[in-house]
Amino acid sequence: MDALTKKWEKYSSFLNKGDWHVHTNYADGENSVIEMCEQAEKNGLRMIAFTEHVRKTEHVRKKQDYDFSSLVKDVEHARKNFPNLKILVGCETKILLDGGIDVSEDVLEMCDIVIASFHRFPPEKDLQITALKKALHNPNVDIWGHPATLFRNFDLKRNEMENIINLCKRNNVLIENNLCPKYIPPEGFMDMVHKLGARTVIGSDAHSVWDLRKMN
Ligand SMILES: [Zn+2]
Ligand SMILES: [Zn+2]
Repeated sequence: MDALTKKWEKYSSFLNKGDWHVHTNYADGENSVIEMCEQAEKNGLRMIAFTEHVRKTEHVRKKQDYDFSSLVKDVEHARKNFPNLKILVGCETKILLDGGIDVSEDVLEMCDIVIASFHRFPPEKDLQITALKKALHNPNVDIWGHPATLFRNFDLKRNEMENIINLCKRNNVLIENNLCPKYIPPEGFMDMVHKLGARTVIGSDAHSVWDLRKMN
C-alpha cells in the first residue's frame, strides 16, 4: 500500500457526518456497541467508528483484557440491525516511546481505521516530537487523536506546530478535532491546521451514550 493511501479515504464521504472516535464497555466505556448505535441514530449521525483501546503487549491493563474479534463480531451484528448507519471498527493505539504504535498485526488487520494518540508520555519535548513524527509516517495510522496531549508539558513554537501539521498533510493523516473538553488544544492550533490545509475529523471520544456527537 502506498504510504499516502489511507484506509480512511474509503469512508471520506462520512468525514463530516459521523463520530470517528468512540469507546465501548469492551474497554473503559459504559455502553455496548448496540447501545451506542441506537444513540448514534437518535443523534442524527450517519456513521460511527468504534475505536477501542488496544495493546500489543501481554501486560494488558485490567479493563483492556478483551478479545478484539468479539468486538468485530458485535459490529458485524450491529451492521445488520442498523442498515442506515455506517459502522466501522477500529482502534485507538498509544504512541510508544520509540514512535511505534501499541497494536498487534492481528488487530490491525481487523481495523477499518486506526487512531494513534499520546496517553501518558514522559515530559521530554524532543523525545515526544520524534515519536510523533515517526507515528505520523506509519502507513497504518489514519488519525492523530486528541493533539492536545502533545501540549501538556511544554509549549511548541509556531514553526514546530506548522512542521507537524504539514507532516500530517503530506502523509494524509487526519487531525482529530476531539470534542472532549479535557482535550482542547492551545488557542490558534486548529486555526493553523485549517490555514495550512490539513484535513480534520470529528471524534467525541465518547465513553458513554451521553458523550456521543450530536448532529442535530
Ligand atoms: Zn485517547
Ligand atoms: Zn479515546
